[in-house]
Amino acid sequence: MSVSEHIAYKTRQQSQALERLQANERVELVRVAGPEDCSTAQTVQGVYSKFEVPVLPVEGCSREGGCICNYEPVLKEIYP
Ligand SMILES: [Zn+2]
Repeated sequence: MSVSEHIAYKTRQQSQALERLQANERVELVRVAGPEDCSTAQTVQGVYSKFEVPVLPVEGCSREGGCICNYEPVLKEIYP
């Protein structure tokens, strides 16, 4: 797989993951998490409203082996 194919694949995978989170009512916020060696991840890391999340993988991510930044769901607190 070429680098650009890999990026296209990752982008598709990430957008599907984000769509699943957006469709889940229990998910209130989305956290963007990236490892320290992901230079660009440091600039987008944080917690976002689930419809205002930056696109992953971050353009220009230079991590060796590819970008592994990720979306993590922040669930609503369930009160009994
Ligand atoms: Zn990255």
